[in-house]
Amino acid sequence: MNGVGIFGGTFNPVHIGHLRSCIELRETLGLTAIHLIPSARPPHREAPVVSAEHRLTMLHLAIDEEPGLQVDDRELRRDGLSYTIDTLQELRGELGNDTSLSMCIGMDSLVNLASWHRWQSLTDFAHLVVVARPGWQVPDTGPVANWLDDKLVSDVELLTNTPAGQVLVSEMTLLPMSSTGIRKKLAAGQSVRYLVPDAVLDYIEQHRLY
Ligand code: ATP
Repeated sequence: MNGVGIFGGTFNPVHIGHLRSCIELRETLGLTAIHLIPSARPPHREAPVVSAEHRLTMLHLAIDEEPGLQVDDRELRRDGLSYTIDTLQELRGELGNDTSLSMCIGMDSLVNLASWHRWQSLTDFAHLVVVARPGWQVPDTGPVANWLDDKLVSDVELLTNTPAGQVLVSEMTLLPMSSTGIRKKLAAGQSVRYLVPDAVLDYIEQHRLY
């Protein structure tokens, strides 16, 4: 095992789709650890209503017993907007220049990558592992397509054997669920058992979230 993965999100709340993706990412790339990084104030989206503290606690409840998955709260501790590039730069500084670092993003994010702060520099610090999302294709024209031209690879070993710089489109399972769907069910008084870990469900009920 070698290398570190990054899985960011709002985790509002964390669900088993996130957890399965992290486990598959870790196994496919043979990574030592995946950092699950809850975002504080995502630049692209409205601030979540449920506090960062609750989202962080639910993430701990979901993964603290799972070897190889770890909560990384650096974006919650940082002031100002949470830019991914800053997180990657920081982690690269901690890991040194040789360790393979791979960040998981959805295909929807890849398609909109040009709206991210200093997007062209993301691969200076990490690889990107792009997960298919229904209705989204790898861009084949425009700035992101041009940028991808010399970065797209299909061989996983190219990611594990180098520190950064490649983009891999992954076949990872995407379980048919979202935090939005879970929040809607809860708001409608429906059960979300088995969509989130039991400890997360207990926490949601105890604190009457959503
Ligand atoms: P929301 O519905 O609030 O937008 P979400 O379920 O999409 O939330 P996020 O916290 O925004 O979850 O996403 C974090 C990461 O998890 C993103 O990389 C996203 O692509 C991925 N992801 C979201 N849903 C799933 C799923 N069902 N299976 C695997 N990965 C998922």
